[in-house]
Amino acid sequence: MATPKKVFVSYKYSDVVEGRVDKFNFRDKLIDELDGRGLVHKGEDNESFDLKDYKRDQIISKIHPFVKNSSITVVFITPNAIKSQWIPWEISISLRKRTYDNEQNMTRNGIIGVYLPLDSNNIPVEFGGNYNFYKKLKSCGTITHFTSKFPNMIADNAFNLKNGAHTCGSGCCDSVYDSSTGSYIELVDWDTFIDDIDEYIDRAWKRREKFDNYNCRIKLNEGN
Ligand SMILES: [Zn+2]
Repeated sequence: MATPKKVFVSYKYSDVVEGRVDKFNFRDKLIDELDGRGLVHKGEDNESFDLKDYKRDQIISKIHPFVKNSSITVVFITPNAIKSQWIPWEISISLRKRTYDNEQNMTRNGIIGVYLPLDSNNIPVEFGGNYNFYKKLKSCGTITHFTSKFPNMIADNAFNLKNGAHTCGSGCCDSVYDSSTGSYIELVDWDTFIDDIDEYIDRAWKRREKFDNYNCRIKLNEGN
């Protein structure tokens, strides 16, 4: 890897941090693993904060300083992420074209969507546990991802490689995408991701360099 990439971490506080200790405080575990490369905007940590009280430019000015110093965004996909006011903005700003002086700040971020091992009651499942809340393995080997449970900004920027859809080997699924290149926001399980963070960062960087090959939605639709 040519340059150590700085990583902006986007998350729903109540799912990822609140009441979580040790390895189940997923945000802090990732920040530790990133060893100085991680950046977080703790906008949601303060429960009294309501984004509806802020104007568009104020929201952008709060998030932008963190994103502009990163080149990769990791967004945690969790049961209540869909209710987050911050995640859509953080994805949107990560996708915007920016021009800065050095490589770190050159332009948009590559993005990785990481599924956390939480069950539908939001309880952490032991390492190696299931991710059934988010997806299902079909008998043909294709994985169906339950994108309606995602924040729209994630769902709309996954499975979006232009001409990337193909049929599965058994012929029963007609819009299958390659897991590493088929989505601008690659979707990966926490267990897999945390064991090989740099590989996923490298892949996100490569997709970012091929941004035009993807149908990405950058702007929010009515806050989503
Ligand atoms: Zn199939």
